[in-house]
Amino acid sequence: MVEACEEIYSSLRPKFKGGLLRPGDAGYEEARAIWNGMVARTPRLIARCADISDIQSTVRVASSAGILTAIRCGGHSLAGFSTCDGMVIDLSRMRQVVVDTDKRRARIAGGCLLGSVDAATQKAGLVFPSGVVSHTGASGLILGGGTGWLARRFGLSCDNVEGFTLVTADGSIVRATAKENPDLFWALRGGGGNFGVVMEFEVRLHPLTSVVLAEGLTPESGIRLLLQCWRDFMAEAPIELKWNIDLRLAAHKNKVPAELRGQPVAGSSLIWTGDPDSGRTFLQRALSLCRPDSVNTRVVSFLGLQTMADSDFPHGRRYYTKSGYFTYLDDSSIDRLVEATVSIPSQDNQIELAYLGGSVAQVGADETAFGDRSAPFVLTLLSNWSGPSADATNISWTRGFFTKLRPAMKPGVHINFMSGDEQDRVPEVYRQRWEQIVAVKSHYDPNNFFRLNQNILPRKLAANRE
Ligand SMILES: Cc1cc2nc3c(=O)[nH]c(=O)nc-3n(C[C@H](O)[C@H](O)[C@H](O)COP(=O)(O)OP(=O)(O)OC[C@H]3O[C@@H](n4cnc5c(N)ncnc54)[C@H](O)[C@@H]3O)c2cc1C
Repeated sequence: MVEACEEIYSSLRPKFKGGLLRPGDAGYEEARAIWNGMVARTPRLIARCADISDIQSTVRVASSAGILTAIRCGGHSLAGFSTCDGMVIDLSRMRQVVVDTDKRRARIAGGCLLGSVDAATQKAGLVFPSGVVSHTGASGLILGGGTGWLARRFGLSCDNVEGFTLVTADGSIVRATAKENPDLFWALRGGGGNFGVVMEFEVRLHPLTSVVLAEGLTPESGIRLLLQCWRDFMAEAPIELKWNIDLRLAAHKNKVPAELRGQPVAGSSLIWTGDPDSGRTFLQRALSLCRPDSVNTRVVSFLGLQTMADSDFPHGRRYYTKSGYFTYLDDSSIDRLVEATVSIPSQDNQIELAYLGGSVAQVGADETAFGDRSAPFVLTLLSNWSGPSADATNISWTRGFFTKLRPAMKPGVHINFMSGDEQDRVPEVYRQRWEQIVAVKSHYDPNNFFRLNQNILPRKLAANRE
């Protein structure tokens, strides 16, 4: 591996426009780190591509040498797929966003973070529906599906893509749209990084500059009622409303009443993307039904909304996650959720509940690889801690609770929230679409060069394993 990477380095160096980093080089230590501190690797070579020809030459040499290669946009893969001990293709120098205000379209380069996309599109009063933390990479998020505050109103991130330009495993440049390579266009919307390095996304934008935000805090005694009320209310709610609930131990922060600090609570965050005046009234009515202890309602800018959770998920901490869907949240599942909140091991762990439906559910199950959108309740257990000594406690709490809930869940998972030990769940992600996605993978990446992802094994390699 070391020798092969040295050969790759020498062959790339004369024409490479970006930067090539090897262990010991200045900047290497920062460049090798990814967001999840549980995954530390020592790549032999980090190729910071400056343009599509850098990507092409890197893919060609790494692919023909058979070197394990990770692709990195924002480095936020919960599973840690954006690093390895071989080679990393790092797109962080490719963060251009070009907005066409009249057509409400943008071209987003493959290394963009959500913050770069939001900053550029807001200059034109427009938004691209994406995730909730601005330092997440746009590429990984879009390719996996992509849910955020605007999903009920405008759909998943991948639903708003009209075209992809990518470099495939043989170094070719391929475009995928509804007309050009439609099989690939289908697979890229939910199939993750399996098919090539996407250097550009062409996306649809929507007008929006601010939202109404209401936040409520419910003590342990009210969580059961809150969850029942939320479940019933969301079934009829308009698409302008997104309501997320976090179950956690209340932080020791100024805004949290003293008697709740360190206690199990449910935090509600509601956003309204329609007319602000009717939104305030609507949000207050929704929350009053569920009787939280405190409510705070205000208008926030879209950029404020998109960055308000940034500091809750810092780089370098240790993270572990499990996620899945419920078609309906029955009372016994709610009881389990309440019990689990009491057993949360630390204030940094949370049980996140979201309700999709709306525009997400209007796209047919076979229209994109993302697939079945019929189970609107999304549960994500996100554990977060600082040192290796707490690994076992946090991981076992997450796995144990997930195992208890699993029988009531609908099979399936959004790949953006999978951890690194869940490769056996990949067929569950695609279920009825499995043969179709395997066929696309087998065509575009028959040797599985792109394998650091929620991996779909090409046919010939799967056959060899049997
Ligand atoms: C703090 C935080 C908040 C999050 N919030 C949300 C959210 O609100 N909604 C949501 O849907 N998800 C969310 N996620 C999950 C996130 O979408 C996934 O972890 C996603 O993979 C991250 O993308 P990235 O580009 O940062 O990751 P990376 O680690 O760089 O890459 C992730 C995967 O995508 C592949 N990849 C990256 N770039 C490319 C490219 N240009 N071409 C081809 N393949 C590529 C990589 O090979 C890897 O398999 C969040 C994650 C974190 C850590």
